[in-house]
Amino acid sequence: THFGFRQVPVEEKAKRVADVFHSVAGKYDLMNDLMSGGIHRLWKRITLERSGVRPGYQVLDIAGGTGDLTRKFSRLVGPQGKVVLADINDSMLKVGRDKLINTGHAGNIEYIQANAEALPFADNTFDIITIAFGLRNVTDKDAALASMRRVLKPGGKLMVLEFSKTDHPALTKLYDFYSFNILPQMGKLIAGDAESYRYLAESIRMHPDQETLKGMMENAGLVNCHYDNLTGGIVALHTGIKP
Ligand code: SAM
Repeated sequence: THFGFRQVPVEEKAKRVADVFHSVAGKYDLMNDLMSGGIHRLWKRITLERSGVRPGYQVLDIAGGTGDLTRKFSRLVGPQGKVVLADINDSMLKVGRDKLINTGHAGNIEYIQANAEALPFADNTFDIITIAFGLRNVTDKDAALASMRRVLKPGGKLMVLEFSKTDHPALTKLYDFYSFNILPQMGKLIAGDAESYRYLAESIRMHPDQETLKGMMENAGLVNCHYDNLTGGIVALHTGIKP
């Protein structure tokens, strides 16, 4: 260990993330609504509104999980467009695919198991890429940002929706209490799994803050990078363009 921090080996993190999402997949949507009081729907709607999506667009929703953003994009890109719902975890992907098919969303959606760090698509494929509440789970975030940049078309837009840092001390306190006390309790009660929700809270605390992530996106070769804080910075929406 360096400086007293515990070094988590790379494979250990990836396995941890896999275990968490295999465990929560079936209850993921319910827990999302309960834990965020439904606000995640608003954050996703804002992402969609700012995406500039148009009919005919090719969209990648990576770490797309149960497909909330995919569902919205699917309607807007129309029959000429395409949305790829991609996730590293086949349990999450299966819940997403079943849900989308059962609600009559088909035709223009593809389902692909893929790691954000090494995307299996050709260069210059997508007009828009979204990664919502996914980047913090990725082990090598720089590799993921570079890979996303590679598969974007020139002029295409990357949107990273993720938990971030609040700048109000009172809100931070309240939020920490919620994350480390209430959230694992809810996880235990509803999903029978406190540990997974403790991991989620930890991963939120470890995630780079707004300015750091913006710098990482610039380092990955994106331009016009900026972010908007949502809900006091509990969540931030970062965007960047491929030159
Ligand atoms: N985007 C969805 C949403 O906003 O509801 C799901 C978010 S969920 C909190 C995080 C997702 O990231 C999980 O489905 C997980 O399997 C996926 N994930 C984690 N690491 C990944 C990686 N390296 N590549 C692709 N997906 C990954």
